[in-house]
Amino acid sequence: MAESPTGPSAVEVAIRFMTEQNGGPERVLRIHRRLADGRCRGCLTTVTTWPCPVARLALRARAHGGVD
Ligand SMILES: [Zn+2]
Repeated sequence: MAESPTGPSAVEVAIRFMTEQNGGPERVLRIHRRLADGRCRGCLTTVTTWPCPVARLALRARAHGGVD
């Protein structure tokens, strides 16, 4: 994937972290999944509409099939 001249973006770093350290996007998406009312199951302490930022990153990571 193309990287900007200034290096990987914060999003790319977060995706890499999720893939390598957090059990991968599938595990994240099992926790942060959509409830029937449209909220995120993993973010119930703060009511968040799914996809929350974490789920969004996991979806992106999964779409990439990891980075590199
Ligand atoms: Zn969430």
